[in-house]
Amino acid sequence: MLFDAHCHLQDARFGAGLEAVLRRAAEAGVTHMVCCGTREEDWDRVLELGRRPEILPMAGLHPWYVDGASPHWAARLEAAFDRGAGAGECGLDFSDGRPSRELQEAALRAQLALAIRRDLPVSLHCVKAAGRLLEILRETGLPEAGGLVHAFSGAPEVALDFQALGLHLSFGRALTVPGARRAQASLAALREDRILFETDSPDLPPEGVTGLNEPANLVHVAAASPRPAPAHENASRLFRRWMR
Ligand SMILES: [Zn+2]
Repeated sequence: MLFDAHCHLQDARFGAGLEAVLRRAAEAGVTHMVCCGTREEDWDRVLELGRRPEILPMAGLHPWYVDGASPHWAARLEAAFDRGAGAGECGLDFSDGRPSRELQEAALRAQLALAIRRDLPVSLHCVKAAGRLLEILRETGLPEAGGLVHAFSGAPEVALDFQALGLHLSFGRALTVPGARRAQASLAALREDRILFETDSPDLPPEGVTGLNEPANLVHVAAASPRPAPAHENASRLFRRWMR
């Protein structure tokens, strides 16, 4: 049994192929998929998909899209939470060409405050921003429900810092890249119950897989992992309110 802790099934690239994607996921033993919204436009679709027992809906404003959000995005996000979504994807991305750090941090802080108030698990995106994300999380705290840092590929010291805050670390493509020593070392350093696997599909396909990534490809992440796939309870505990 595998649990895809972070993916984007609402992505238009899946289109009419989504039924086949979900069938292949079931055949591959992927029993649950956490579907993360990234901007206002896709939250309705995520909630609609979340009516299926195997799909767990999350809604967030991704750092890539903070400069395109409407003035009402936070109220809309609360409405999505009212309708049963978890919190995410949100976070920080300090790569070149992304929205300003000020906008990203303001959006992240607003989402963390809502998630803490409602005690919703949070799915965090972090690229070239681990130091700052840790600072902010130490200041704001986290929802008691917990959360995860998705697509983790950083160093073990950073993984342990996130773990110390109570977060899970979710691994995907990074484990499948030949010579992916850093991600593998981080995986080895963590507590067994803090580890999750994900595809981030339709992006970030495992090494050697071509075309659109999909949850069934979680088997490639599991095959590349030097540790056994995480226990189902790791994810089902974190996302317990959506388990059916
Ligand atoms: Zn994602």
